[in-house]
Amino acid sequence: MAKKTQEDNELMDKIVSLSKRRGFVFPGSEIYGGLGGTYDYGPLGVALKNNIKDAWRKKFVASRDDMYEVDAAILMNSEVWKASGHVAGFSDPLVECSKCKHRFRADQLEDPTKCPDCDGALGEARQFNMMFSTKIGAVEDSASTVYLRPETAQGIFTNFKNVVDSFHPKLPFGIGQIGKAFRNEITPRDFIFRVREFEQMEVEYFVKESDWQDAFTLWQKNLNEFVSELGLDTSLVHEVEIAEADRAHYSKRTIDFEFEYPFGQKELFGLVYRGNFDLSNHNVEYQDEEAKEKITPHVIEPSIGVDRLVLALLLSAYAEDEKGGEVRSYLKFKPSIAPVICAVSPLLKNKPELIAKAREVYTTLKQEFGRVMWDDNGNIGKRYRRQDEIGTPWCIVIDFDTLGEKPELLDTVTIRDRDTGEQERVQMNELVGYIKEKLN
Ligand code: ATP
Repeated sequence: MAKKTQEDNELMDKIVSLSKRRGFVFPGSEIYGGLGGTYDYGPLGVALKNNIKDAWRKKFVASRDDMYEVDAAILMNSEVWKASGHVAGFSDPLVECSKCKHRFRADQLEDPTKCPDCDGALGEARQFNMMFSTKIGAVEDSASTVYLRPETAQGIFTNFKNVVDSFHPKLPFGIGQIGKAFRNEITPRDFIFRVREFEQMEVEYFVKESDWQDAFTLWQKNLNEFVSELGLDTSLVHEVEIAEADRAHYSKRTIDFEFEYPFGQKELFGLVYRGNFDLSNHNVEYQDEEAKEKITPHVIEPSIGVDRLVLALLLSAYAEDEKGGEVRSYLKFKPSIAPVICAVSPLLKNKPELIAKAREVYTTLKQEFGRVMWDDNGNIGKRYRRQDEIGTPWCIVIDFDTLGEKPELLDTVTIRDRDTGEQERVQMNELVGYIKEKLN
Protein backbone atom coordinates (compact mmCIF):
# COMPACT_ATOMS: atom_id res chain seq x y z
CA MET A 1 0.00 0.00 0.00
CA ALA A 2 1.27 3.49 -0.85
CA LYS A 3 2.52 5.46 2.16
CA LYS A 4 0.37 8.31 3.45
CA THR A 5 1.76 11.64 2.35
CA GLN A 6 1.48 14.92 4.21
CA GLU A 7 -0.93 16.05 1.49
CA ASP A 8 -3.17 13.04 2.21
CA ASN A 9 -3.15 13.85 5.93
CA GLU A 10 -3.96 17.47 5.18
CA LEU A 11 -6.86 16.52 2.92
CA MET A 12 -8.39 14.32 5.63
CA ASP A 13 -7.94 17.10 8.20
CA LYS A 14 -9.67 19.54 5.86
CA ILE A 15 -12.62 17.19 5.29
CA VAL A 16 -13.01 16.44 9.01
CA SER A 17 -12.88 20.10 9.92
CA LEU A 18 -15.20 21.24 7.12
CA SER A 19 -17.66 18.49 8.10
CA LYS A 20 -17.79 19.76 11.66
CA ARG A 21 -17.68 23.50 10.89
CA ARG A 22 -20.46 23.38 8.31
CA GLY A 23 -22.71 20.81 9.98
CA PHE A 24 -22.15 17.59 8.04
CA VAL A 25 -20.65 15.27 10.69
CA PHE A 26 -19.92 15.78 14.39
CA PRO A 27 -18.00 13.50 16.79
CA GLY A 28 -20.53 11.38 18.74
CA SER A 29 -21.38 12.40 22.36
CA GLU A 30 -18.97 15.27 21.96
CA ILE A 31 -19.97 17.34 24.99
CA TYR A 32 -19.13 14.32 27.19
CA GLY A 33 -15.71 13.78 25.65
CA GLY A 34 -16.93 11.60 22.78
CA LEU A 35 -17.47 7.88 22.33
CA GLY A 36 -14.94 5.97 20.21
CA GLY A 37 -16.12 4.91 16.78
CA THR A 38 -19.36 6.92 16.79
CA TYR A 39 -20.29 10.01 14.80
CA ASP A 40 -23.44 12.11 14.58
CA TYR A 41 -24.72 13.54 11.33
CA GLY A 42 -25.69 17.21 11.32
CA PRO A 43 -28.35 18.80 9.07
CA LEU A 44 -26.22 18.80 5.90
CA GLY A 45 -24.89 15.29 6.54
CA VAL A 46 -28.45 14.03 6.96
CA ALA A 47 -29.46 15.75 3.71
CA LEU A 48 -26.50 14.20 1.86
CA LYS A 49 -27.25 10.74 3.27
CA ASN A 50 -30.93 11.09 2.36
CA ASN A 51 -30.03 12.01 -1.21
CA ILE A 52 -27.76 8.95 -1.45
CA LYS A 53 -30.45 6.69 0.01
CA ASP A 54 -33.14 8.19 -2.24
CA ALA A 55 -30.92 7.55 -5.28
CA TRP A 56 -30.38 3.94 -4.17
CA ARG A 57 -34.15 3.42 -3.61
CA LYS A 58 -35.01 4.97 -6.93
CA LYS A 59 -32.48 2.92 -8.89
CA PHE A 60 -32.70 -0.41 -7.12
CA VAL A 61 -36.28 -0.57 -5.81
CA ALA A 62 -38.79 1.99 -7.10
CA SER A 63 -37.88 1.86 -10.78
CA ARG A 64 -37.91 -1.96 -10.95
CA ASP A 65 -40.66 -4.52 -10.64
CA ASP A 66 -38.44 -7.35 -9.38
CA MET A 67 -37.45 -5.61 -6.12
CA TYR A 68 -39.07 -5.36 -2.68
CA GLU A 69 -37.96 -3.32 0.31
CA VAL A 70 -38.18 -4.31 3.98
CA ASP A 71 -37.31 -2.60 7.24
CA ALA A 72 -36.57 -5.34 9.77
CA ALA A 73 -36.02 -4.89 13.52
CA ILE A 74 -32.43 -4.30 14.59
CA LEU A 75 -32.87 -6.75 17.48
CA MET A 76 -33.45 -10.29 16.28
CA ASN A 77 -33.80 -13.68 17.92
CA SER A 78 -30.26 -14.90 18.72
CA GLU A 79 -30.93 -18.11 16.83
CA VAL A 80 -30.62 -16.02 13.66
CA TRP A 81 -26.99 -15.25 14.45
CA LYS A 82 -26.22 -18.84 15.37
CA ALA A 83 -27.68 -20.06 12.07
CA SER A 84 -25.89 -17.37 10.06
CA GLY A 85 -22.53 -18.33 11.54
CA HIS A 86 -21.97 -14.96 13.23
CA VAL A 87 -21.96 -16.22 16.84
CA ALA A 88 -19.23 -18.72 16.02
CA GLY A 89 -17.30 -16.88 13.36
CA PHE A 90 -17.86 -13.13 13.15
CA SER A 91 -14.56 -12.20 14.72
CA ASP A 92 -11.28 -10.42 14.09
CA PRO A 93 -7.85 -11.38 15.48
CA LEU A 94 -7.05 -9.18 18.48
CA VAL A 95 -3.52 -8.58 19.80
CA GLU A 96 -2.52 -6.62 22.89
CA CYS A 97 0.75 -4.86 23.64
CA SER A 98 2.44 -6.18 26.78
CA LYS A 99 3.88 -2.71 27.50
CA CYS A 100 1.28 0.00 26.72
CA LYS A 101 -1.74 -2.38 26.69
CA HIS A 102 -3.06 -0.88 23.45
CA ARG A 103 -5.07 -3.30 21.32
CA PHE A 104 -4.87 -3.86 17.55
CA ARG A 105 -6.34 -5.97 14.77
CA ALA A 106 -3.52 -8.36 13.97
CA ASP A 107 -4.41 -8.58 10.27
CA GLN A 108 -4.05 -4.81 9.88
CA LEU A 109 -0.50 -4.57 11.22
CA GLU A 110 2.62 -4.55 9.09
CA ASP A 111 4.47 -6.44 11.83
CA PRO A 112 2.06 -8.46 14.02
CA THR A 113 4.74 -8.97 16.72
CA LYS A 114 5.63 -5.31 17.39
CA CYS A 115 3.38 -2.59 18.86
CA PRO A 116 3.05 0.32 16.38
CA ASP A 117 2.57 2.79 19.28
CA CYS A 118 5.51 1.94 21.58
CA ASP A 119 7.49 -0.87 19.88
CA GLY A 120 6.59 -3.20 22.79
CA ALA A 121 6.00 -6.91 22.22
CA LEU A 122 2.52 -7.94 21.06
CA GLY A 123 0.94 -11.03 22.61
CA GLU A 124 -0.71 -13.99 20.84
CA ALA A 125 -3.68 -13.16 18.64
CA ARG A 126 -7.08 -14.26 19.95
CA GLN A 127 -10.42 -14.15 18.15
CA PHE A 128 -12.64 -11.27 19.25
CA ASN A 129 -16.35 -11.45 18.29
CA MET A 130 -17.45 -8.10 16.91
CA MET A 131 -21.14 -8.35 17.72
CA PHE A 132 -22.49 -6.08 20.46
CA SER A 133 -24.66 -8.04 22.85
CA THR A 134 -27.29 -6.82 25.26
CA LYS A 135 -30.09 -8.31 27.34
CA ILE A 136 -33.76 -8.27 26.45
CA GLY A 137 -36.56 -8.20 29.05
CA ALA A 138 -36.46 -8.09 32.82
CA VAL A 139 -34.84 -11.50 33.45
CA GLU A 140 -31.10 -11.71 32.95
CA ASP A 141 -30.14 -15.20 31.87
CA SER A 142 -28.34 -16.67 28.88
CA ALA A 143 -31.64 -16.98 27.00
CA SER A 144 -32.15 -13.21 27.14
CA THR A 145 -28.95 -12.33 25.24
CA VAL A 146 -29.60 -10.51 21.99
CA TYR A 147 -27.23 -8.89 19.52
CA LEU A 148 -27.34 -5.60 17.69
CA ARG A 149 -27.29 -6.74 14.06
CA PRO A 150 -23.82 -6.58 12.47
CA GLU A 151 -25.37 -6.56 8.97
CA THR A 152 -28.82 -5.84 7.58
CA ALA A 153 -28.70 -8.94 5.36
CA GLN A 154 -30.12 -11.38 7.92
CA GLY A 155 -33.27 -9.26 8.32
CA ILE A 156 -33.82 -9.88 4.63
CA PHE A 157 -33.24 -13.65 4.73
CA THR A 158 -35.56 -14.05 7.71
CA ASN A 159 -38.30 -12.18 5.82
CA PHE A 160 -37.82 -14.06 2.55
CA LYS A 161 -40.80 -16.35 3.22
CA ASN A 162 -43.01 -13.43 4.29
CA VAL A 163 -42.31 -11.53 1.08
CA VAL A 164 -42.87 -14.66 -1.03
CA ASP A 165 -46.15 -15.46 0.75
CA SER A 166 -47.45 -11.90 0.37
CA PHE A 167 -46.29 -11.07 -3.16
CA HIS A 168 -45.61 -14.42 -4.89
CA PRO A 169 -42.61 -13.11 -6.84
CA LYS A 170 -41.01 -15.31 -9.50
CA LEU A 171 -37.24 -15.84 -9.53
CA PRO A 172 -35.13 -13.85 -10.05
CA PHE A 173 -36.18 -11.14 -7.59
CA GLY A 174 -34.54 -9.17 -4.84
CA ILE A 175 -35.21 -7.73 -1.41
CA GLY A 176 -33.43 -4.59 -0.30
CA GLN A 177 -33.01 -2.93 3.05
CA ILE A 178 -31.47 0.26 4.37
CA GLY A 179 -30.62 0.37 8.03
CA LYS A 180 -28.16 0.59 10.88
CA ALA A 181 -25.58 -2.08 11.59
CA PHE A 182 -23.24 -2.36 14.56
CA ARG A 183 -19.76 -3.83 14.89
CA ASN A 184 -17.53 -3.60 17.92
CA GLU A 185 -14.50 -2.75 15.78
CA ILE A 186 -11.21 -3.24 17.63
CA THR A 187 -9.71 -0.12 16.12
CA PRO A 188 -12.30 2.27 14.71
CA ARG A 189 -10.41 4.84 12.64
CA ASP A 190 -10.25 7.17 9.68
CA PHE A 191 -13.24 9.35 10.57
CA ILE A 192 -16.49 7.75 9.32
CA PHE A 193 -14.67 5.02 7.37
CA ARG A 194 -14.50 2.48 10.20
CA VAL A 195 -17.05 3.13 12.91
CA ARG A 196 -18.94 1.01 15.41
CA GLU A 197 -22.40 2.12 14.31
CA PHE A 198 -23.03 2.63 10.62
CA GLU A 199 -25.66 2.35 7.94
CA GLN A 200 -25.90 -0.19 5.14
CA MET A 201 -27.89 -0.38 1.92
CA GLU A 202 -28.08 -4.05 1.04
CA VAL A 203 -29.83 -6.12 -1.59
CA GLU A 204 -30.21 -9.87 -1.57
CA TYR A 205 -30.99 -10.87 -5.13
CA PHE A 206 -32.41 -14.39 -5.35
CA VAL A 207 -31.70 -16.53 -8.40
CA LYS A 208 -31.62 -20.11 -9.56
CA GLU A 209 -28.16 -21.55 -9.07
CA SER A 210 -27.59 -21.83 -12.84
CA ASP A 211 -28.19 -18.07 -13.23
CA TRP A 212 -25.82 -16.74 -10.59
CA GLN A 213 -23.00 -15.68 -12.92
CA ASP A 214 -25.23 -13.58 -15.18
CA ALA A 215 -26.87 -11.95 -12.17
CA PHE A 216 -23.47 -11.23 -10.64
CA THR A 217 -22.27 -9.52 -13.83
CA LEU A 218 -25.47 -7.48 -14.04
CA TRP A 219 -25.10 -6.26 -10.45
CA GLN A 220 -21.47 -5.42 -11.08
CA LYS A 221 -22.67 -3.16 -13.91
CA ASN A 222 -25.50 -1.73 -11.76
CA LEU A 223 -23.08 -0.79 -9.00
CA ASN A 224 -20.71 0.94 -11.39
CA GLU A 225 -23.62 2.92 -12.83
CA PHE A 226 -24.82 3.85 -9.35
CA VAL A 227 -21.56 5.44 -8.20
CA SER A 228 -21.17 7.26 -11.47
CA GLU A 229 -24.77 8.58 -11.25
CA LEU A 230 -23.97 9.91 -7.77
CA GLY A 231 -21.13 11.90 -9.32
CA LEU A 232 -18.33 10.02 -7.55
CA ASP A 233 -14.97 10.32 -9.30
CA THR A 234 -14.95 6.80 -10.76
CA SER A 235 -11.24 6.98 -11.59
CA LEU A 236 -10.73 6.57 -7.82
CA VAL A 237 -12.81 3.36 -7.64
CA HIS A 238 -11.14 -0.01 -8.32
CA GLU A 239 -12.64 -3.47 -8.51
CA VAL A 240 -10.64 -6.10 -6.66
CA GLU A 241 -11.37 -9.82 -7.01
CA ILE A 242 -10.97 -11.37 -3.56
CA ALA A 243 -9.10 -14.66 -3.33
CA GLU A 244 -10.88 -17.62 -1.75
CA ALA A 245 -8.71 -17.60 1.38
CA ASP A 246 -9.63 -13.98 2.10
CA ARG A 247 -13.38 -14.25 1.48
CA ALA A 248 -16.04 -14.29 4.21
CA HIS A 249 -17.18 -17.74 5.37
CA TYR A 250 -20.37 -17.59 3.26
CA SER A 251 -18.87 -16.22 0.03
CA LYS A 252 -18.27 -18.13 -3.20
CA ARG A 253 -17.15 -15.04 -5.10
CA THR A 254 -16.46 -11.50 -3.89
CA ILE A 255 -15.51 -8.30 -5.64
CA ASP A 256 -14.55 -5.43 -3.39
CA PHE A 257 -15.06 -1.99 -4.87
CA GLU A 258 -12.19 -0.06 -3.33
CA PHE A 259 -11.81 3.69 -3.21
CA GLU A 260 -8.56 5.65 -3.10
CA TYR A 261 -9.05 7.24 0.32
CA PRO A 262 -6.20 9.49 1.51
CA PHE A 263 -5.34 6.76 4.05
CA GLY A 264 -5.06 4.07 1.37
CA GLN A 265 -7.10 2.14 -1.18
CA LYS A 266 -9.81 0.53 0.94
CA GLU A 267 -13.20 -1.18 0.56
CA LEU A 268 -16.03 1.17 -0.26
CA PHE A 269 -18.62 -1.57 -0.86
CA GLY A 270 -18.78 -5.19 -1.91
CA LEU A 271 -20.50 -7.57 -4.28
CA VAL A 272 -20.77 -11.12 -3.01
CA TYR A 273 -22.16 -14.41 -4.28
CA ARG A 274 -23.38 -16.06 -1.07
CA GLY A 275 -24.51 -19.31 -2.71
CA ASN A 276 -27.55 -20.59 -0.80
CA PHE A 277 -25.65 -20.55 2.48
CA ASP A 278 -28.11 -18.32 4.36
CA LEU A 279 -31.49 -19.60 3.19
CA SER A 280 -30.40 -23.20 3.69
CA ASN A 281 -29.12 -22.44 7.20
CA HIS A 282 -32.46 -20.83 8.02
CA ASN A 283 -34.27 -23.83 6.46
CA VAL A 284 -36.19 -21.63 4.05
CA GLU A 285 -37.30 -22.99 0.69
CA TYR A 286 -39.04 -21.65 -2.39
CA GLN A 287 -41.67 -23.42 -4.47
CA ASP A 288 -40.48 -23.27 -8.06
CA GLU A 289 -43.67 -23.24 -10.16
CA GLU A 290 -41.92 -24.25 -13.41
CA ALA A 291 -39.92 -27.17 -12.05
CA LYS A 292 -42.76 -28.07 -9.63
CA GLU A 293 -40.25 -28.60 -6.86
CA LYS A 294 -38.93 -26.85 -3.82
CA ILE A 295 -35.54 -25.21 -4.21
CA THR A 296 -33.27 -23.07 -2.07
CA PRO A 297 -32.47 -20.01 -4.20
CA HIS A 298 -28.93 -18.71 -4.48
CA VAL A 299 -28.15 -15.10 -3.76
CA ILE A 300 -26.11 -12.17 -5.05
CA GLU A 301 -25.47 -9.45 -2.49
CA PRO A 302 -24.47 -5.89 -3.34
CA SER A 303 -23.72 -4.35 0.06
CA ILE A 304 -22.99 -0.65 0.37
CA GLY A 305 -21.95 1.25 3.50
CA VAL A 306 -23.62 4.67 3.47
CA ASP A 307 -20.97 6.28 5.71
CA ARG A 308 -18.06 5.13 3.53
CA LEU A 309 -19.92 6.48 0.52
CA VAL A 310 -20.49 9.84 2.25
CA LEU A 311 -16.76 10.06 2.96
CA ALA A 312 -15.84 9.07 -0.61
CA LEU A 313 -18.26 11.67 -2.01
CA LEU A 314 -16.89 14.41 0.25
CA LEU A 315 -13.32 13.55 -0.76
CA SER A 316 -14.07 13.29 -4.44
CA ALA A 317 -16.06 16.56 -4.45
CA TYR A 318 -13.51 18.61 -2.50
CA ALA A 319 -11.73 21.21 -4.61
CA GLU A 320 -9.75 24.39 -4.14
CA ASP A 321 -8.97 27.24 -6.50
CA GLU A 322 -7.39 30.65 -6.22
CA LYS A 323 -8.76 34.00 -7.30
CA GLY A 324 -7.09 37.32 -6.55
CA GLY A 325 -4.68 35.69 -4.09
CA GLU A 326 -7.53 34.16 -2.10
CA VAL A 327 -7.94 30.40 -1.85
CA ARG A 328 -11.50 29.17 -1.98
CA SER A 329 -12.55 25.64 -1.09
CA TYR A 330 -15.71 24.14 -2.48
CA LEU A 331 -17.52 20.84 -2.83
CA LYS A 332 -18.38 20.16 -6.44
CA PHE A 333 -21.26 17.80 -5.66
CA LYS A 334 -23.47 16.75 -8.52
CA PRO A 335 -26.60 18.94 -8.06
CA SER A 336 -28.85 15.91 -7.56
CA ILE A 337 -27.00 14.90 -4.37
CA ALA A 338 -26.00 18.35 -3.07
CA PRO A 339 -27.55 18.91 0.38
CA VAL A 340 -28.76 22.36 -0.75
CA ILE A 341 -29.77 22.85 -4.39
CA CYS A 342 -29.79 26.62 -4.25
CA ALA A 343 -29.51 29.49 -1.80
CA VAL A 344 -31.63 32.63 -2.09
CA SER A 345 -30.35 36.01 -0.85
CA PRO A 346 -31.54 39.59 -0.84
CA LEU A 347 -28.55 41.79 -1.81
CA LEU A 348 -28.96 43.80 1.40
CA LYS A 349 -30.44 42.72 4.68
CA ASN A 350 -32.06 46.03 5.63
CA LYS A 351 -34.15 46.81 2.54
CA PRO A 352 -37.73 45.54 3.02
CA GLU A 353 -38.52 45.67 -0.74
CA LEU A 354 -35.50 43.42 -1.52
CA ILE A 355 -36.41 41.05 1.29
CA ALA A 356 -40.04 40.79 0.19
CA LYS A 357 -39.05 39.98 -3.40
CA ALA A 358 -36.39 37.49 -2.24
CA ARG A 359 -38.93 35.77 0.04
CA GLU A 360 -41.24 35.39 -2.93
CA VAL A 361 -38.50 33.67 -4.94
CA TYR A 362 -37.45 31.56 -1.95
CA THR A 363 -41.00 30.34 -1.26
CA THR A 364 -41.55 29.29 -4.88
CA LEU A 365 -38.24 27.40 -5.06
CA LYS A 366 -38.65 25.86 -1.61
CA GLN A 367 -42.08 24.50 -2.54
CA GLU A 368 -40.67 23.06 -5.75
CA PHE A 369 -37.32 21.65 -4.63
CA GLY A 370 -37.36 21.48 -0.81
CA ARG A 371 -33.58 21.66 -0.48
CA VAL A 372 -33.42 25.46 -0.72
CA MET A 373 -31.71 27.73 1.82
CA TRP A 374 -32.44 31.31 2.80
CA ASP A 375 -29.12 33.07 3.30
CA ASP A 376 -28.84 36.71 4.35
CA ASN A 377 -25.88 36.38 6.70
CA GLY A 378 -22.84 38.60 6.08
CA ASN A 379 -22.00 40.22 2.75
CA ILE A 380 -22.59 38.55 -0.61
CA GLY A 381 -18.95 37.42 -0.93
CA LYS A 382 -19.14 35.64 2.42
CA ARG A 383 -22.43 34.00 1.47
CA TYR A 384 -20.92 32.69 -1.77
CA ARG A 385 -17.90 31.24 0.12
CA ARG A 386 -20.18 29.55 2.63
CA GLN A 387 -22.44 28.06 -0.03
CA ASP A 388 -19.39 26.94 -2.08
CA GLU A 389 -18.03 25.17 0.97
CA ILE A 390 -21.22 23.15 1.45
CA GLY A 391 -21.47 22.40 -2.26
CA THR A 392 -24.56 24.46 -3.21
CA PRO A 393 -24.59 24.53 -7.03
CA TRP A 394 -26.48 27.83 -7.41
CA CYS A 395 -26.78 31.09 -5.46
CA ILE A 396 -29.64 33.40 -6.41
CA VAL A 397 -29.47 37.08 -5.54
CA ILE A 398 -32.31 39.59 -5.61
CA ASP A 399 -30.94 43.10 -6.19
CA PHE A 400 -32.16 46.58 -7.12
CA ASP A 401 -32.43 45.63 -10.79
CA THR A 402 -34.91 42.92 -9.77
CA LEU A 403 -37.03 45.77 -8.37
CA GLY A 404 -36.77 47.64 -11.68
CA GLU A 405 -33.89 50.07 -11.16
CA LYS A 406 -32.98 49.15 -14.72
CA PRO A 407 -36.49 48.71 -16.14
CA GLU A 408 -35.39 46.12 -18.68
CA LEU A 409 -34.16 43.91 -15.79
CA LEU A 410 -37.37 44.10 -13.75
CA ASP A 411 -38.19 40.72 -12.13
CA THR A 412 -34.90 39.14 -13.15
CA VAL A 413 -32.43 37.70 -10.63
CA THR A 414 -28.76 36.76 -10.79
CA ILE A 415 -27.92 33.09 -10.57
CA ARG A 416 -24.31 32.24 -9.82
CA ASP A 417 -22.68 28.95 -10.72
CA ARG A 418 -20.61 27.37 -7.92
CA ASP A 419 -17.87 25.88 -10.09
CA THR A 420 -17.25 28.70 -12.55
CA GLY A 421 -18.36 31.64 -10.40
CA GLU A 422 -20.17 32.97 -13.48
CA GLN A 423 -23.45 34.83 -13.12
CA GLU A 424 -26.47 34.89 -15.40
CA ARG A 425 -29.65 36.95 -15.26
CA VAL A 426 -32.80 34.89 -15.32
CA GLN A 427 -36.48 35.87 -15.24
CA MET A 428 -38.02 35.08 -11.86
CA ASN A 429 -40.85 33.10 -13.46
CA GLU A 430 -38.36 31.01 -15.44
CA LEU A 431 -36.22 30.02 -12.44
CA VAL A 432 -37.95 26.72 -11.65
CA GLY A 433 -37.62 25.56 -15.27
CA TYR A 434 -34.01 26.76 -15.43
CA ILE A 435 -33.01 24.76 -12.34
CA LYS A 436 -35.02 21.69 -13.35
CA GLU A 437 -33.27 21.62 -16.70
CA LYS A 438 -29.85 21.86 -15.05
CA LEU A 439 -30.78 19.14 -12.53
CA ASN A 440 -31.62 16.75 -15.33
P1 ATP B 1 -13.78 -4.31 6.26
O1 ATP B 1 -13.00 -5.43 5.63
O2 ATP B 1 -13.36 -2.96 5.82
O3 ATP B 1 -13.92 -4.45 7.74
P2 ATP B 1 -16.06 -5.84 5.62
O4 ATP B 1 -15.58 -6.64 4.43
O5 ATP B 1 -16.11 -6.51 6.93
O6 ATP B 1 -15.28 -4.45 5.70
P3 ATP B 1 -18.77 -6.14 4.85
O7 ATP B 1 -19.04 -7.14 5.90
O8 ATP B 1 -18.63 -6.59 3.45
O9 ATP B 1 -17.49 -5.28 5.27
O10 ATP B 1 -19.88 -4.99 4.97
C1 ATP B 1 -20.49 -4.40 3.84
C2 ATP B 1 -20.22 -2.91 3.78
O11 ATP B 1 -20.57 -2.29 5.02
C3 ATP B 1 -18.75 -2.55 3.58
O12 ATP B 1 -18.41 -2.60 2.21
C4 ATP B 1 -18.72 -1.14 4.11
O13 ATP B 1 -19.19 -0.22 3.15
C5 ATP B 1 -19.70 -1.19 5.26
N1 ATP B 1 -18.99 -1.36 6.54
C6 ATP B 1 -18.57 -2.50 7.09
N2 ATP B 1 -17.97 -2.29 8.28
C7 ATP B 1 -18.02 -0.95 8.48
C8 ATP B 1 -17.58 -0.10 9.54
N3 ATP B 1 -17.01 -0.57 10.64
N4 ATP B 1 -17.79 1.24 9.42
C9 ATP B 1 -18.41 1.74 8.33
N5 ATP B 1 -18.85 0.99 7.30
C10 ATP B 1 -18.67 -0.35 7.37
